[in-house]
Amino acid sequence: GLVGDPAAAIGFPAPEQPGPPEAPAAPADADLLARRASVLADVQEHYYARPPRIERGWREHLIDTDGRVYLDMVNNVASVGHAHPRIAEAAGRQLRLLNTNSRFHYAAITEYAERLAATLPDELDTVFLVNSGSEAADLALRLAMAATGRTDIVAMREAYHGWTFASDAVSTSVADNPHALATRPSWVHTVAAANGYRGAHRGVEAARYAPEAVAHLRALAAGGAQIAGFICESWFGNAGGIALPDGYLAEVYAAVRELGGLAIADEVQVGFGRLGDWFWGFEQQGVVPDIVAVAKSIGAGHPLGAVVTTRAIAERYRTQGYFFSSTGGSPVSSVVGTTVLDIIADEALQENARVVGAHLKGRLEALGAQHPLVGTVHGAGLYLGLEFVRDRATLEPATTETAAICDRLLELGVIMQPTGDHQNVLKIKPPLCLTTASADFFVDMLDRVLTTGW
Ligand code: PLP
Repeated sequence: GLVGDPAAAIGFPAPEQPGPPEAPAAPADADLLARRASVLADVQEHYYARPPRIERGWREHLIDTDGRVYLDMVNNVASVGHAHPRIAEAAGRQLRLLNTNSRFHYAAITEYAERLAATLPDELDTVFLVNSGSEAADLALRLAMAATGRTDIVAMREAYHGWTFASDAVSTSVADNPHALATRPSWVHTVAAANGYRGAHRGVEAARYAPEAVAHLRALAAGGAQIAGFICESWFGNAGGIALPDGYLAEVYAAVRELGGLAIADEVQVGFGRLGDWFWGFEQQGVVPDIVAVAKSIGAGHPLGAVVTTRAIAERYRTQGYFFSSTGGSPVSSVVGTTVLDIIADEALQENARVVGAHLKGRLEALGAQHPLVGTVHGAGLYLGLEFVRDRATLEPATTETAAICDRLLELGVIMQPTGDHQNVLKIKPPLCLTTASADFFVDMLDRVLTTGW
């Protein structure tokens, strides 16, 4: 049976309180899946053998059409928790006033841009508002190219930056398929992933990664590349949040700038208080990028992304290009963004990510000491990654086991899914309001699955 708490125990609002309207009687699973197949162009496999039919959310929980409660451990879009009443109220109020494209001087938009810029270093004072992380990464690349008058971009291998044409072009995987290789534009170059656990850097001293990347950049430049920018996440995200070696970004950014390019940080996934100790990932490295792309958490599920850069770079872009997004940074998106920043401060969610994240990581490491399938635990705060391996010496990825474990966790009331290039990683990115009790519930269920089998 299901082990999740009943809705009342998680403080789910009683029916008379604000919340989504009652849903109509749910169709049978088979009907729903058939309808889904006929209207949604979702080419990915379903994550689960039997995907749950989710109806509503509350804090770090999701509730299905039968009233079952699940703990959502993999949703870093819902940064402040699902169905936060303050967001519903702010968005509703703004919808009753105005929601249109950002052609006007509109106080809510300016206020949000100021508030977002205030979370970043002073020199990053110019904000472009868009709808998603892919758009933000795309625009970041475009800005670098326009500001330098160059086109070559260097990215870290095995990263994900989005699905739009340019952001996808700089997203490479371990095993690039022939189609990806054939369609990759010639302006994309890569350096090795800063992952010391597996891949090209296994067994290589961490202090060597940056000099190797720098040597590669210099070789590219010597070979004629006109480097416009270097883009990477400030924590290596694809394998579940691996910290870059100390000094990595300082060394690589210095080399990129010396070669005439700009430093671009993709903070779509890692930034925004999730690390607990640092609001933005690059802060841990003590650097200031030239261009920062943000999204996901900043809108708490509402479509909102941004690129923040220096005035000089934005001006150079304006002389050559044109920026207009019909719905990017709409008044509703902007008030949502401002409210998310307020909630993070008022509910001390960054501090919560630090405290609950440290507790969770400690418990996961203890779990690893008991279960050999746990290869390693990466990350910090509420940005953790757990790799399952069949053999700690060969690191053979436990891919089928990871899928089965996630299916079993779902039965036990925990939402988790396999990720990473080998689909053997649990990326642990719950809403930032995760309680210690919920963190313990997750580890207890994982322990149960690893102990009793999957
Ligand atoms: N950049 C990073 C690091 C991401 O993790 C993602 C999404 O997973 C994106 C960009 C793309 O964001 P979106 O899905 O909002 O387009």
